[in-house]
Amino acid sequence: MTRPIVADISAAALRHNVAVVREHAPRARIMAAVKANAYGHGVTLCAPVLAEAGVDAFAVASLEEAEALHALGLERPICLLGGPFDADEVSVAAERAYLLVIHEQRQLQWLETRAADAALRLFIKVDTGMHRLGFAPERLPALFAALQRHPRWEVLGLMSHLARSDTPDDPFNRQQAGVFADAIAHVGHVTAGQHSLANSGGVLALPFTHQYWVRPGLMLYGLSPFAGRRGSEIGLQPVLSWRSAVVAIRELGPGDWLGYGAAWQAPARCRVGVVAAGYGDGYPRHLGCGAPVTVAGQTTRTLARVSMDMLFVDLTAVEADIGAPVVLMGAGGPPLESLAAELGTISYEMSCRMQMRVPRRLVS
Ligand SMILES: *Cc1c(COP(=O)(O)O)cnc(C)c1O
Repeated sequence: MTRPIVADISAAALRHNVAVVREHAPRARIMAAVKANAYGHGVTLCAPVLAEAGVDAFAVASLEEAEALHALGLERPICLLGGPFDADEVSVAAERAYLLVIHEQRQLQWLETRAADAALRLFIKVDTGMHRLGFAPERLPALFAALQRHPRWEVLGLMSHLARSDTPDDPFNRQQAGVFADAIAHVGHVTAGQHSLANSGGVLALPFTHQYWVRPGLMLYGLSPFAGRRGSEIGLQPVLSWRSAVVAIRELGPGDWLGYGAAWQAPARCRVGVVAAGYGDGYPRHLGCGAPVTVAGQTTRTLARVSMDMLFVDLTAVEADIGAPVVLMGAGGPPLESLAAELGTISYEMSCRMQMRVPRRLVS
């Protein structure tokens, strides 16, 4: 017997969500964001399915992530969204032909010292208003003049990132797209025209942000980037089903205390299930008292405090024995988006939270 906790990763849902990207952006190439272990879902399981479903490239946040992906042998370009972090990374990236996003003058110096004559494929990151990474648009002409000195460096296109695509009606989105269009008008002719602006929110709700490449992440995993709307309400299918099982059942009398601290006292006779999942697995401790959870297909709630390896569920009105299946969140259980909202965070953070000790398993 192994501890019954597992994260089921649905290949069918991944394929469906890629098809949704295609529907929304039929002419764009898809660069699938699989950083942070595919948003917690497990990159070694997800990336092969995404490749088979037809995504054209992958995007990651570090050289380590790129190397892990490269090892899978999927024969798709791999883009380092933050470019190299030091000169040593340039050498590895050049050898592997990773696509590099260049956002900072210092990175160009590293390229000069380590890869002046290497064949490189670059994106130039433009700051269109988010003010996180990228060159100010007015610096582009001088930058591109300097790049011309390296005929083997190919600038694929300009890249920028939307700060408010989760609120599509915000005029800031059009403003950013306008700044991006101006930048393309100025220097686009010395690139290969492979520009890229849209993340999931852009793909789904801002067609004017679709360029040569779209860069969806969250939506591939079936999760909605929009507050108050779940993935299933916008045509997506959740990829994750985070499962465990009831490993013990306790009968409590009125006034009995449950778990750590004086967090919960039984108001009457009740039946409590102990589930093999805790904050050590990434189940948030703050979802202890009253978060929805599905046990044997019936919706109930958590009770008392979440422990490191266990949590409590109310079985008073639930028909379930030891071994009963539990869905903590995702397909077949409470939507991850709702739990994230309950916790005051976003689905991005919630999906990254699941710890490595939870085995990920691909299901069809
Ligand atoms: C993570 C990331 C994406 C994907 O964003 P989603 O909102 O998950 O679709 C796209 N572009 C960049 C630069 C990113 O860092």
